[in-house]
Amino acid sequence: MSNRVLGCTGNMMTRAENLKGHAIRNETGEAMGPRIIILLGAPGSGKGTQGALLSARYGVPTVSTGALLREESKKNTPSGFRLRQTLAAGALVDDQVVFEAVAARIRTSSEARDGGLILDGFPRTVAQARMLDRLLASMGMAAPLVLHLDVPREVLRTRLAGRRQCATCGAVYNLRSGRSGRGSRCEIDGGALVERDDDSEGVVERRLAAYEAETLPVLEYYRWPERGGCYRRLDGNRGPAEVTKELCGIVGFLGATGDDSVGDTAVAA
Ligand code: AMP
Repeated sequence: MSNRVLGCTGNMMTRAENLKGHAIRNETGEAMGPRIIILLGAPGSGKGTQGALLSARYGVPTVSTGALLREESKKNTPSGFRLRQTLAAGALVDDQVVFEAVAARIRTSSEARDGGLILDGFPRTVAQARMLDRLLASMGMAAPLVLHLDVPREVLRTRLAGRRQCATCGAVYNLRSGRSGRGSRCEIDGGALVERDDDSEGVVERRLAAYEAETLPVLEYYRWPERGGCYRRLDGNRGPAEVTKELCGIVGFLGATGDDSVGDTAVAA
């Protein structure tokens, strides 16, 4: 996803600038200021797909920690080597390492300060959620809006087994859905469609186990009533276009205006 999600700033900068003054609003219409939107869900729940669609529609950039870490892991450095080992094992990367990468992006991104930012894959532990809270408070930013894509475990396994990614641009396809590329090639740039290393069967089980042990408590953390209802659960076990529609309903309701033409051909990753 890296290029598509993180690298699509050209067009989006303009849209993000358009969002200036379109502060996200709460249910009583009060301006909330720039806001972080967290897409929370297990591997295969469609966070990447939905993040890319929301970005395209609202001009708010998506930061995918998985994509960031995969890029870092390609480096021929000791930390690149350690990351490769962690990702290959399906384990979570150290909280502080991931937080620093996300925090750097939030601190330096004008879009984050002006319109907001979508986080895909962060936070994944309660410790990360607390670090994010402290950072946002120190920047005077509103608490994040947490959108949880809930998908049964069996469906996740099936989706992950069929997931393929363009080796060139990172576009995501699924062999089990209608959109599976042109044969084994990407519809966008003709790149080869490959399976992610960590989508192999054994690693998927470890990633799902890590989600249940480390990330389910994050849902509880955001569901605390004291947090003022920032948590919304969505049924992610539906066609991607339906999920997109509900997500856009929530984000649109909160004040950001989007491009209606985006999202009709969404695919669950
Ligand atoms: P994803 O593409 O979101 O499924 O992430 C791929 C892998 O990157 C995960 O299995 C973890 O090893 C690592 N990762 C991504 N985000 C985080 C995070 N917030 N904390 C720790 N590890 C992460």
